[in-house]
Amino acid sequence: MMATTHAFAGLVLAALLAPLAPQFAVVVAVAAILGGIFPDLDLVGAHRRTLHFPVYYWLVATPASVVAVAVPTAATVGLAVFLLAAALHSLSDYLGGGLEPKSWQATSERAVYSHYHDRWLEPRRWVRYDGAPEDLALAAVLALPALVVFEGTIRTTVVALLAVSIGYALIRKPLASAGEWLLERAPDHVVSAVPDRFLAMIDEEHDGRID
Ligand SMILES: [Zn+2]
Repeated sequence: MMATTHAFAGLVLAALLAPLAPQFAVVVAVAAILGGIFPDLDLVGAHRRTLHFPVYYWLVATPASVVAVAVPTAATVGLAVFLLAAALHSLSDYLGGGLEPKSWQATSERAVYSHYHDRWLEPRRWVRYDGAPEDLALAAVLALPALVVFEGTIRTTVVALLAVSIGYALIRKPLASAGEWLLERAPDHVVSAVPDRFLAMIDEEHDGRID
């Protein structure tokens, strides 16, 4: 799923909480967006492993939520929502596609790494790949509550994230092909800095030869 889809999923939670505690409306919205996107910052490293914790985020988010309810401040509420959005993101990656750059080919058995289980969870592929039509449709539906509840800068941000989602969905497949084309022609020192999962794509399609 796209990082923006995860942000919108977090915003559903924020849209539910904001009417209950209007004084924290902006805090919960910002925390939901940041927490929804945060795990994907490991994109450049061990993606869906370094910052993805499908089990452990919940173990931290639950007491953080209790604290936020008991002592509601901007910091406690923001932290709880951030952790809940990150937890939701990590768990829902399990329902998406595999880790391969061309996820629609469904060749990878790695959806997200569970540190608790000490293994990769297999992709369920309810959403076949990030930027898939069903991913964009899901993003649009999940964005609706935030568009209704929030206004001003938050609503503008949601609209901007939706625009980014549409643009990404449109270029997702050409982008993967362009990346492949570039990698095949990149100098060795560039290729050596690229994460292995991208190189696997070239290895598979070109019999292990990287010129
Ligand atoms: Zn992710």
